Formats: sequence, C-alpha cells, structure tokens
Amino acid sequence: MTYVFAFDHKHRKPPMSYKDLLGGKGANLAEMTSVLGLPVPPGFTISTDACRDYMHGGWPDGLDAEIAKQRTKLEKAMGKKLGDAADPLLVSVRSGAKFSMPGMMDTVLNLGLNDESVEGLAKQTDERFAYDSYRRFISMYGRIVQNIDGEHFEQLLENAKGWDGVTADSDISPDTLRKLCDRYKVIVERETGEPFPQDPTQQLKGAVEAVFKSWNGPRAIAYRNREKISHELGTAVNVQAMVFGNRDESSGTGVGFTRNPSTGENLPYGDYLINAQGEDVVAGIRNTEPLDALKEQFPKIHKELLGIFDRLEKHYQDMCDTEFTIEQGKLWMLQTRVGKRTGVAALRMAVEMTTQRGWKITKEEAVQRVTADHLDSVLHPQFAAGTKADVLTTALAASPGAAVGKVYFTADDVVDAVERGEAAILVRNETSPEDVHGMAVAEGILTAKGGLVSHAAVVARGWGKPAVVGAEQVKINGKAFSVGDVVVREGDVISLDGSTGQVVVGAVDLTVGSTPPEFDTVLGWADTIRAGAKGVRGLKVRANADNGPDALRAREFGAEGIGLCRTEHMFLGEDRLPIVRRMILAQTDEESHAALEELREAQKADFIEILDAMDGLPVTVRLLDPPLHEFLPDVEELAIKQALHGLDVEETALLAAARSWQEVNPMLGTRGVRLGVVKPGLYEMQVRALMQAAAQLKKAKKHPVVEIMIPLTISREEMQLARGWVEEAIAEVGVKNLDVTIGTMIEVPRAALRAEGVAEFADFFSFGTNDLTQMTLGFSRDDIEGRIMTSYVEHGLLKTNPFETLDQQGVGELVKLAAQRGRLTKPDLKLGVCGEHGGDPESIYFLYDVGLDYVSCSPFRVPIARLAAAQAVLGAGASGDTR
Ligand code: ADP
Ligand code: MG
Ligand code: MG
Repeated sequence: MTYVFAFDHKHRKPPMSYKDLLGGKGANLAEMTSVLGLPVPPGFTISTDACRDYMHGGWPDGLDAEIAKQRTKLEKAMGKKLGDAADPLLVSVRSGAKFSMPGMMDTVLNLGLNDESVEGLAKQTDERFAYDSYRRFISMYGRIVQNIDGEHFEQLLENAKGWDGVTADSDISPDTLRKLCDRYKVIVERETGEPFPQDPTQQLKGAVEAVFKSWNGPRAIAYRNREKISHELGTAVNVQAMVFGNRDESSGTGVGFTRNPSTGENLPYGDYLINAQGEDVVAGIRNTEPLDALKEQFPKIHKELLGIFDRLEKHYQDMCDTEFTIEQGKLWMLQTRVGKRTGVAALRMAVEMTTQRGWKITKEEAVQRVTADHLDSVLHPQFAAGTKADVLTTALAASPGAAVGKVYFTADDVVDAVERGEAAILVRNETSPEDVHGMAVAEGILTAKGGLVSHAAVVARGWGKPAVVGAEQVKINGKAFSVGDVVVREGDVISLDGSTGQVVVGAVDLTVGSTPPEFDTVLGWADTIRAGAKGVRGLKVRANADNGPDALRAREFGAEGIGLCRTEHMFLGEDRLPIVRRMILAQTDEESHAALEELREAQKADFIEILDAMDGLPVTVRLLDPPLHEFLPDVEELAIKQALHGLDVEETALLAAARSWQEVNPMLGTRGVRLGVVKPGLYEMQVRALMQAAAQLKKAKKHPVVEIMIPLTISREEMQLARGWVEEAIAEVGVKNLDVTIGTMIEVPRAALRAEGVAEFADFFSFGTNDLTQMTLGFSRDDIEGRIMTSYVEHGLLKTNPFETLDQQGVGELVKLAAQRGRLTKPDLKLGVCGEHGGDPESIYFLYDVGLDYVSCSPFRVPIARLAAAQAVLGAGASGDTR
C-alpha cells in the first residue's frame, strides 16, 4: 500500500475525487497543482489510510521510509534541505480530513527550523525575520504537538515587548527575538523534560503523529458526533513547503471567495493583510483590508488572483473559497474548496449557475446543492450574523426561528400583553393544551422541561413558532426565572433562537425571514423532479393540519393534501370540551346520543373548512386517537379541591369519570381503535360528520377527497371490525359517488408484522412513525428525551435522536417490511408517513427508497420536504454520502 502522495502524483482519476484518501485539503491541493497548474507550494499528503492504520496498530511499517522518500523529492524540487545550516527548507504540517473539521489539530508552520538552520535563514533573509519565524515555530510546536499551555509563550512574548518598549510583535528587535527563542526552549524543556527537538526528522514525525492523534481528541470527537461524521474516516496530513507572507511589505496573506458567500452576489470577496502569516487574517490581530484594496496595492497580483478565481469556479462549477499568500510580489495558492454559504447565497448561486451561460449545472444538481438548513434560514428569522450576545443557556432547538419579547409565565398573561401591543415570550415548565391560546399569540416559547416531541415543541413546530425546550438550567419561581445567578423577571426582554437552542437576555438583532425569488425557482424545479418521470417513481408531500387556516397555509407552502388531520384538537376548544365531557359522563343512551349529535354538528363545520381548503386534494382524517381521560380534568386537582372545599354535582361526576378512565400507562391504554370498541357510536359520529361535510361540498361543485384513517390497529380482525363501522356510517349518510377510501395508521409493531392481513381491509397505510418509534425502541418519548437521549447519543449508543431522524435499522425495517407485506395483498396499496419524520430529509430519503408514495409534515416544513423529496428521487438515499 502507498501511504504518501506528492501533490503532483498522477492519480487515475482527478485528485479531487480522492477526498476519502487524501482528505479535502490534500485532494484540492493536488487538483490545483496537477490539473489546474496553479502556483501551489509543492508538498505531499500522508493518506487517511496511514491514519487509520496508526489508530489500529500504531505507527505503520514503511511509513517512515515513504515520508523520507517524498521529503527528499521535495528538497530536490526546492533546492533546499530541512534543517540545512546554510539555506534551510521550511514546511508546514496541516491536518485535513474528508470533511473540514474545526476541532482538529492546528497547523504547524515553519517546521525545520533549529538552532543551526535559523542562522542559515537569517543569512538568506534577515535576522529579524528568521528569529521571528523560529519563535513562532517553537511556540506552535510546543503548544500543538507537545501540549504545552500556550499561556507560557504568550506571557513571555508580552514581556519581550516590554523589554524593547514596543507594542507590536513586528517591532521586537532581532536581539530580543533571539533571547525569546532561548526562553521558549527553556519552557519546552521544563514542561516536557526534554530539550526542544533539533532534528527535523524528529520534528516532522512528531507533528505528523500529533495530527493522527488529534483525530481522536475530545473536540474532534464532539464535532463529529454533532455533525454525524463517522469516527472511522481518519485524517490526512499535508506537508508543504512554506511561503512567507510575513517576509516584508511586498508580502501578505489572505482569504478569498470567488463570489460573495453571504449574499451570493457574483463579485469576489475577501480580506488580506500585508506582511502577515497564516492565521493572522482570521485572528483579528490587525485590521484586514478588503480585496478591492489589493487592486490598488498590487494590481498585477489582484488581476492574477481574479483570473484564478474564475478558473476555480469554472473548474469546480461552484463558488470556491481560497487561502493565498504573497511572498515578495509572487502569488501562491494554499488552499481551495467549495465554499460554505448562507441560505440566500445558496439559492441565488444555484439558480444563476443553472440559468446563466457558461455553466454546466443542471436543475437536478441545483436542487442537490441547496440543503434543508439553507431553506430553514430563509424561512425563519435568525439571530443576525456577528451579533455578540452572552448566551444565558442553550437547550433543545425545538422549532426554528428567532424571537425577541418580554417574558410572561402564563398563557393568560401573554394574551394580555399581546393585547397591550407587546411582543411576548411564554416561559413555562412545560405546556399543555390549556396553554395554546397563549402559545398562539406569543412570539416564541421557552420551556424548562420536555423534549423535542413535548407538547410545546410539537405545537410550536406546527405553527412555525420559535421554541426552545428542555432548558433544564431555567428555574421558574413564580413570576421570574433564574439561570445560575441571573434572574429574569416578568416583563424583562429575552431573545431565543429555536434553530440553535440559544437563549439570551435582552434584545438581539434578527434577520428577516423573507424568501428570495430564487426560493420559488428552486422549489419549482424540485417539484418537477419529484413528480417522477417515465420509469422513475415520484414522491408527494402533504401537510399535517387540523383546521382550515392551517390547511390553507399548507397549500400555500405547496402541500399536495393533508396526510394527518387529528380530530382530537377539534375536541379541545373551550366550546367543545363541555360537550365531550357530557358524552363521557352520559348515563343513558339518549344523553350519549344527544352529546354525540352536538359534536357531529361541530365537527362537520370543521371538516367543511378543511376539505374546502384542500379542494381536489386528499385529506386523511384520523378518527379519535387519544385516551378519553385527556378530555377530563386532572384527578389529583379535583381530589384536592374536594378535600379542601368540596365539589358540586358536576365536579363530583367528573371526578368519578376521571378516576374510571384514569390509566397507569395511557399511551398504551384505551386509545385509538380500542376507544372505538369501548365507546360505540364515537367513530360512527365522526364518519357521519365527515361524509356530510363532503356531501355538502360536493353539492357545491367541489371535489372533496376523503381518506378515513383508523389509528392504532394491531390486526386484520380489528381492521375488519373498524372498517365495518365506517362503511356502515357511510352507507347511513347515503350519498353516492363520494371519493372516500378507508385505511389505517401503522404505528404498533404488530400491525407492521401483520400488514398482509391488515391490508385486506385497508386502502392505504400511513406510518405513524412517532408511536412506531416509541413502541419499537420501548422509549417513552416524553420521558427519554432529556438525560437518556443525550447520554445515548454522546456514548454513540444511538447515532441520532430516533424521534428526529428515523431509526432505519429498527423502525425503518418495520416500515419496509410492512410496505412489502401490505403490497403482497394489494399491489397498489397507497403508502405514506405522517410522523415527525415526514419533514426530516434523511428520513425522507429512506422512506422514498422503501416505496412510500408521500410524506406528510407540519405546514412550515413543507418546502423542506419538497426539496428533500426531490433529492430522494435523485437518489440521495441510495448514493448516501454517509459520513
Ligand atoms: P486550517 O484548516 O485551520 O485553515 P491550514 O492548514 O489551512 O489550517 O493552515 C492554517 C494557516 O496557515 C492558513 O492561513 C494557511 O494559509 C497557512 N499555511 C499553511 N501552510 C502554509 C505554507 N506552506 N506556507 C504559508 N502559509 C501556510
Ligand atoms: Mg485553511
Ligand atoms: Mg399515534
């Protein structure tokens, strides 16, 4: 096996396609060198193979020899030798993994200097420069390779300026720099017990090994966990001849983008510093100059650089970012890659590079260049870039977007505040259906408890409202909350960002969430792609919505129907709850019947609104699902009231009912289709209301398309029974020619396993992946999210939170199997998903691959789902850029 490749190595394919082997930095350095012929200081890359072998079995056999061989080649090419006492070669040692990873080892510059070669360098250049380079090298090597606290060096550097009575590093005298180097070496010896390594071979090996080791440093591991990058990849190491931007006033270093990464405007963008090296530009020690100033200072170099930008863009067919250095009037390219960009810029560039002349980007590629995060950032306001805010606490990012407002602790107080014209943020331990009126008008929601599928999180996402949940550090005490010593009182202003989970005291500047014109262009292309074509299956996108306005909004966002209309929300309104309770409390058939009739009228009106909003598109209505006790008051509260003040007749009855419906484990109790079994009449009532609504619309020349969904089935027999009720109720209404189908929600593992039988009585399956995840993993989602989920992800026991991204190996297997078995019975069985996963790109890719016809998500996720669906059709799941 070959471990080391020179930048000009002749690979079989273009080097930039070897990121796995060479890392991103190495692959692109080789591409610039051997394909584009750009001025890149020569060097070589030690491959990720070497790093992996090192991790598994220590320093690989033969690696020393390969490095030595490449080093000799490099020395020949440069006409200089590492450590040479007359005219030494210096190199940088740079880490570079497949995916760029902050958190890995920093770069060591000026390697090869020692007590002798520094003299040689001084002779070739000047003394100040040579000793400045040496002191930089000793401190970098000490800090990065030998793990010495950088403070030691910093402190001495400060002292040195004191000795000379100067303030800038660059004004320190050569003599003082020389002394500084001696002191630095003393520190190294004191901290490591050994003198500073003088042998360049040893220096080089030490630096390479440090890069290998940094792959498994805590910062790098944490970063990979967060970004879902595999820990197995390993990093490459680049060794490259140094060029010196800190040589003199005709030298400098900078970073440049081939176009503006923040707006997407087609103008080069960047910063540089004269007489500076490496990270000086980013470190913000001195004020940088914009690229335009380069035109004044070094017109020839400016022109050359723009020419290179142009070639890079055309070659990579994308915006690139670059690092460059000028040494005594000569331009060198030190790095390039396809650059990161904001959402606005991503959309603009994707469209311009597809529609403008001279580009080879197809609409398919354009759609693949935009990510869910890009869309998210233009759909929702965010903390403006560059805002320096002290973050009070960071908790779960439950619903994207940022909000600023005054803090209130009850829903009623929020409503009052909003009526007074204030912007309000609702802060609670957790929310419940009783808080929704406050949540509806709040700018944002912050809860101290609960996870990503808590009530607060789900409702906020449904409404596109910013929310941060599970902020465990937030201690609410009456009308104030505290985090550590900081106390925030009612009426104080806070800002929160539901995309990052950050909470800040005071008002932070927000970017406006407004979609640029390119947004619709890209989504239009996505729609065409996901419509499918000859031989290519499509993927539809629906929304989860429970009322007319939400349905209308969903349609505006591009939803092609409703995948889940939960009917329980219609039972919770202040005007509805008493009727529901009367139905539950009914002693006689007449009482029960009367209550059901009242509910039917109310539901019919709701259904008309929703079906009308979705006219011509399918609407999946789920019959009542939650346990009945959710509609009854809290047992404990009533019991306490009884003990303290006594209860009136109605309250006594409610308490009795609440006790009788109380369940130890309500999520696994009397809910879903079981409710239909023990409360006859309930489902029939809902179906009648629905069919009458449809009939009325039909009369008005509309086209209602109804899908009636039975929740929580577990068997063929159950589905047969439930279908019987539904068909009977449909027949009773007696209207012909309505577009109605009957299906079920697959959310219990047994239903997935028995799909072949269930499908006999179902026209469609909709996978309720929230419950299916809960029941497959045995994770109660409300109880597991905080502590357990965090530890599981941290320890790598779970790759990601399975309630956010579908657990493909477990839950996904069940979905796949149910899809296959269901279609054995009915080849054209319609399949969809209506859990939270319907809005998650990774999950969407998978669900498409296992044969689903549509995904359904909250209205605000619809654009993201449209994009992801197109990417799925283009093979995102199969090609799987698996990190
Ligand atoms: P990062 O991945 O953190 O950007 P780099 O390896 O790109 O780290 O290096 C850090 C800084 O050092 C960059 O500014 C880079 O341009 C500079 N640098 C790296 N190698 C050389 C070199 N051979 N000559 C001059 N500057 C270099
Ligand atoms: Mg870099
Ligand atoms: Mg469910």
